[in-house]
Amino acid sequence: MALFITSLNSGSNGNCYYIGNDKDAVLIDAGISCRETEKRMQRLKLPMSALKAIFVSHEHNDHITGIPRISKKYNLPVYITQDTMHSLAIPVEKHLINSFKAHQSISIGELTITAFPKSHDAVDPHSFIVAGSGVTVGIFTDIGFSCQHITHHFSKCHAVFLEANYCDDMLRNGNYPYHLKNRISGDKGHLSNTQALELFLQHKGKYLSHLILSHLSKNNNSPDLVSRIFNEKAGSTKIIVASRYHETPVFCIEKDSPDNGSAQTAVASVLQLELF
Ligand SMILES: [Zn+2]
Ligand SMILES: [Zn+2]
Repeated sequence: MALFITSLNSGSNGNCYYIGNDKDAVLIDAGISCRETEKRMQRLKLPMSALKAIFVSHEHNDHITGIPRISKKYNLPVYITQDTMHSLAIPVEKHLINSFKAHQSISIGELTITAFPKSHDAVDPHSFIVAGSGVTVGIFTDIGFSCQHITHHFSKCHAVFLEANYCDDMLRNGNYPYHLKNRISGDKGHLSNTQALELFLQHKGKYLSHLILSHLSKNNNSPDLVSRIFNEKAGSTKIIVASRYHETPVFCIEKDSPDNGSAQTAVASVLQLELF
């Protein structure tokens, strides 16, 4: 058994990460439109009927814009902390709202989702780990620095969506106003390539088969640069750079053996058998 994961979009224009087994799946954030989510899942042969819940990391627009429509259309429970809910500028159907607390484990079918607090300039931001089939996947974006929670959980993951938001030099030399540069690089902003690489090198566990670099800045980073600096040090971990324009392939995360390249076929056939 395995978990199947993909980034449907990643960046300041929208974040939406899919994690599921052969029956059930959750979205971590829904920051692209319902229509785009449907289109991208269809291209990946992931049926919408697999979706069972949406978990919300924080209230910034790039993580929530798709929630009202997609949750209503597919009757999906929205797991969100009370403080984040109160700060949302979008409507969510009352009967779909479910609250969660840090360190509480929530079961969705055979998936277990656990949230923990992160450092970011939002009212009550959380990161998540999703566990199932003996596999643990981390979703760690929008983090000012690698706190103890992050390093602890990172070391236990088989796959991680990890923020690599900006290159220090590009941010420093770029034309963003001074206060914005400080916000991005501050402890409640975003993780730089250097910080992400340091976390990877110091805390990767021996089971880490996939590292999906996420939430890259359009102006202060470059996918080629991120790919190069991580691949130089990747070892046996497969490096993927998530795009702000399209979905990644579906990756099959297995307990012991790394992705064999046929994940898309595997997940498609399993889900078609069970759900179509
Ligand atoms: Zn964001
Ligand atoms: Zn944010």
